[in-house]
Amino acid sequence: MSADGPLVDRFGRVHRDLRISLTDRCSLRCTYCMPAEGVPWLPGATLLTTEELVRVARVGVENGITEIRLTGGEPLLRHDVVDVVRRLAALTGPSGSPEVSLTTNALRMPALASPLRDAGLARVNISLDTLDRARFQQLTRRDKLVETLAGIAAADAAGLHPVKINAVAMRGVNDHEVVALTRFAVERGYQMRFIEQMPLDAGHTWDRTTMVSQAEILDQLADAFTLTEVPGRGSAPAEVWTVDGGPATVGVIASVSAPFCGACDRLRLTADGQLRACLFARTETDVRGLLREPGAPAGADLDAAIAAAYRRCLAGKRPGHDIDDPAFLQPDRPMSAIGG
Ligand code: SAM
Repeated sequence: MSADGPLVDRFGRVHRDLRISLTDRCSLRCTYCMPAEGVPWLPGATLLTTEELVRVARVGVENGITEIRLTGGEPLLRHDVVDVVRRLAALTGPSGSPEVSLTTNALRMPALASPLRDAGLARVNISLDTLDRARFQQLTRRDKLVETLAGIAAADAAGLHPVKINAVAMRGVNDHEVVALTRFAVERGYQMRFIEQMPLDAGHTWDRTTMVSQAEILDQLADAFTLTEVPGRGSAPAEVWTVDGGPATVGVIASVSAPFCGACDRLRLTADGQLRACLFARTETDVRGLLREPGAPAGADLDAAIAAAYRRCLAGKRPGHDIDDPAFLQPDRPMSAIGG
């Protein structure tokens, strides 16, 4: 593996997309993600400071990262999220400044959408699993559908386009809303994305037989709309179709039934400073330790050590996530502590 140049792994995959978790805390308790009582939060002292986080991102950008997605937990719970966005959007690398986007439940969007846009946020992915208030409450354990819809509208009004709506389809819970959610998005100019449920819940209750597959989602969509596959997916997780001739699109992220690991260009940095090469990785590369250990290098030497950590992390990246391997083990960290 080369010591400089693009971030390439053993399989020739060039990594350009860095997902940064700003916090493991969340304002919702989605049943497929967290138990009602939450999970033990990462100790505050282990969380990267903004200075540390921006430094790790800067070294990534200098080594070819062109897209940064902020996530969590709920990234808008970080008190200085606007400042974080401003500093990340101002980084520069061989391809210029990165595109900074955010995955969010949108509850804080009405207050933050315009400041985030002004700080350089390009676009948002917003989670919305149902349009029914009682079901939203049951699914997220919070009565916040009205606020979520207001947050989506605020992001749209602020020009954080394209607004993408993410829904995890769950059998017997919201799988009958596939068409209604798509109509909701199409009518407003948003892009609908369905996500196959993955084995990343804190309770380890995932069961493949209850997962709603891409094929089932497409069956429902094809009954209601004319779908035409959009070619040129590249490294994007979603396979995308135009709806009734476009321009509206609907996509499915079929991580389980049709994995797209061969084209993966993503790396993850957890809120406590661990680099992960895959959502499902069982190993992590510690950058917090590098930044904080007594006698840690400084200046350009520290940057070189961080760059080496990125490359060490990628050296261990596996060809696929292996969910279908009988020996598959769910990672110890739940999605909320990895950064979805
Ligand atoms: N709080 C933010 C939000 O609500 O979008 C960001 C974090 S959340 C973990 C990011 C995305 O991961 C959401 O779209 C959520 O639906 C998805 N997600 C969480 N657990 C999942 C699971 N087990 N399988 C598939 N997607 C999951």
